[in-house]
Amino acid sequence: MTDGRSTPAGRRRLVLFGPPGSGKGTQAQLLGAQTGQHHLATGDILRAERAQGTALGARVGGYMDRGELVPDEVIISVMAAHLQGLERRGFVFDGFPRTVAQAEALDSMLAAIRRPLQAVVVLEVPAEVLERRLLGRAEVEGRSDDTPETVRTRMRIYQESTAAVLAYYSARLPVVRIDGDRPVALVHRAVLQAVGISMPDPG
Ligand code: AMP
Repeated sequence: MTDGRSTPAGRRRLVLFGPPGSGKGTQAQLLGAQTGQHHLATGDILRAERAQGTALGARVGGYMDRGELVPDEVIISVMAAHLQGLERRGFVFDGFPRTVAQAEALDSMLAAIRRPLQAVVVLEVPAEVLERRLLGRAEVEGRSDDTPETVRTRMRIYQESTAAVLAYYSARLPVVRIDGDRPVALVHRAVLQAVGISMPDPG
């Protein structure tokens, strides 16, 4: 990642991509904490809107509970609002973009501030492991979209949209695939390595 390596870690702009349950939220958070990059997770943003009872929260609730994607124009305007004022920061995008239209919109928002994306990191985890993790998470966190039926919908939608989004990025940026079926700390180390950030040895 030549371009990325010349940018200080906290200023890099990355997308962390992966199926539901792949650990991308956890990894994006760890990466942001390590580097100072701003962690932008569309799922977290939408859940917060719902918890606060906003009009946006009400608009997206049904899609989320069914495990469907929220319409592109809604998500794109949410992201545009959240990018305001953060022009000088680095970013880890988590859960966004999920469609080619979103990827194109993100590219133009970042082009407007002359801060293009530098890499996409993909966490790969076998489907049966994902299903097990998501249903386990449902018991712990009580997320309304972790029921068996919505889990299946979310996996199917991910499978349907992944190929196009990854093809879009593969033609433009380094796309680094990482085995996400490992302990959190090992995956974190692999993510850092993939984006060219060296980490001190733990001891
Ligand atoms: P997540 O926490 O990333 O799994 O997102 C939870 C839910 O929020 C998804 O199942 C969608 O309903 C919605 N959502 C989050 N990000 C997006 C996105 N980029 N595009 C469309 N819907 C999204």
